[in-house]
Amino acid sequence: MTTIDPSRWLRAFATLIDEHTEELTALDAAIGDADHGSNMQRGAAAVVAALDDDPQPTPGAVLKQAGMVLIRSVGGASGPLYGTFFLRSAAAAGTGELDGPAFAAAFRAGLDGVVARGKAESGDKTMFDALAPAATALDAELAAGAALPEALDAALVAATAGRDATIPLIARKGRASYLGERSVGHQDPGATSATLLVRAAREALR
Ligand code: ADP
Ligand code: MG
Repeated sequence: MTTIDPSRWLRAFATLIDEHTEELTALDAAIGDADHGSNMQRGAAAVVAALDDDPQPTPGAVLKQAGMVLIRSVGGASGPLYGTFFLRSAAAAGTGELDGPAFAAAFRAGLDGVVARGKAESGDKTMFDALAPAATALDAELAAGAALPEALDAALVAATAGRDATIPLIARKGRASYLGERSVGHQDPGATSATLLVRAAREALR
């Protein structure tokens, strides 16, 4: 049975964030306050430190720790939003292995947490616009009988398309919304980091 190792997921996410810190900051410089790269890097480094210093026994506990660390260590909108994503996915994951259906359910629960916290809808030019298509693709692929690796490939394609589709949008949530029409023509930073989160999952298969 193929599963996702949540510790490897979080570590792979942290590595990708490190590799893309400058890009995330540049995107946020265009429509925000130029801190999304440093926010995410600080949070991801704190998550990795917690994994090293205080290893957790179950998938749910690993994800819950990450959520609490992110909320504690990241100022800005993205800390509480990603933190809530992981706290909600933790609650859905519980103690069991994250096979395809369990991972999809945890991811969906995380997305629902982002919505509960930030009230974003489709097309608001936020991380939702990458996370939601990924969740839909995961569910659809698994329902059609795909294995988890293939479902994750489809989820990454969907997240990437959702991320790219933020470029022409007017931001309606968060700091970028203060710019109104001037937010048009720029890719959303949070949708970009969220696409890295989906990409990281493919590196956590075992
Ligand atoms: P801040 O905006 O406080 O500086 P960051 O720069 O770290 O925080 O994160 C900005 C990202 O957060 C945006 O690109 C967007 O994707 C996401 N975001 C902001 N507000 C919301 C919201 N209400 N719902 C979902 N995502 C949001
Ligand atoms: Mg910012």
